[in-house]
Amino acid sequence: MTAIPRDFGDFNLAFIASPDKPSLYLGQALPSRVVSRRVVFSSGDLSRSQRAFQFASESLFSVLFPSDCRICKIPLTRISNLPVCRTCLDGMIPITGPLCVTCGERLFGLRFAGDPAPLCDLCRRVPPRFRRAVAYGSYDGPLRDLVHILKYQRVKPAATQLGRFLSQAMAGIDLPGDTLLVPVPLWKGKRRERGFNQAEQIARAFWRFRDAGGIQLSTALLIRNRETASQTGLTRHQRRANLRGAFSVAQEEKLKGRHILLVDDVLTTGATAGECARVLLRAGAKQVWVATVARATREAANLPATVGTRGAAIGWGGTLGHA
Ligand SMILES: [Zn+2]
Ligand SMILES: [Zn+2]
Repeated sequence: MTAIPRDFGDFNLAFIASPDKPSLYLGQALPSRVVSRRVVFSSGDLSRSQRAFQFASESLFSVLFPSDCRICKIPLTRISNLPVCRTCLDGMIPITGPLCVTCGERLFGLRFAGDPAPLCDLCRRVPPRFRRAVAYGSYDGPLRDLVHILKYQRVKPAATQLGRFLSQAMAGIDLPGDTLLVPVPLWKGKRRERGFNQAEQIARAFWRFRDAGGIQLSTALLIRNRETASQTGLTRHQRRANLRGAFSVAQEEKLKGRHILLVDDVLTTGATAGECARVLLRAGAKQVWVATVARATREAANLPATVGTRGAAIGWGGTLGHA
């Protein structure tokens, strides 16, 4: 929760931003009494226009009145629509190798040293449906906090920074000019609740940062038919069953023979990306690549987050809605 009180002579303003109940307090201090007005936004029952107003007011307020860093809580000294300090941003570092050339998992052990194309045991045993998964950083520390700030605190400018990271991660990857950029879709109920699909916001930002060439963004091609339960604690077989029928392709004619770059915020086990790739390939896509801002790595599992997740489970088993 972030509280930003400001005193303007006779007027007091305070903005309370919490994941479930952001509030704007407007007060006028009078000699004998205090008159205050409180506007409370509850995410569950906001209409589209109310939510738009909420986003606009939050953005405007954060620009006019710099708050504390949402991660380390130190007061911000610069005006920005992203309430995160430079030190925390600098702590969001790229993942370092050696990495599996297919799924991007960090590899340990001497047997991988000097191998120009190391493969993790899992990819060696069961090659994924996607051609390759690339991630900017490990899903821990301030990077995980920034993802949570986007998803759970609904600070949309965080997507711009995450898109920038993604473009850095993909800088060395040569994608064919006719590649379609496809965000992993959210179930429509979830999207309504959150107000946006974080994967789509990141994909849009990435698209703006990358010298896109002929790459096209396609947000309506892949659809999610239902919400999927958390993958936490499921076996590989159970994960596949959990995802069966969860995705389908809406415009098959658009992807015939095309390369697809699937974009998501986090890759944990790779099961969601694998299922999306399976559906896209079956519908006629030529090859599927995966790009995520963050990737769960073995050491990163079970580290506590500092930014609220509204009860989402985190760790090697996957976050709610991810796999
Ligand atoms: Zn900070
Ligand atoms: Zn692998």
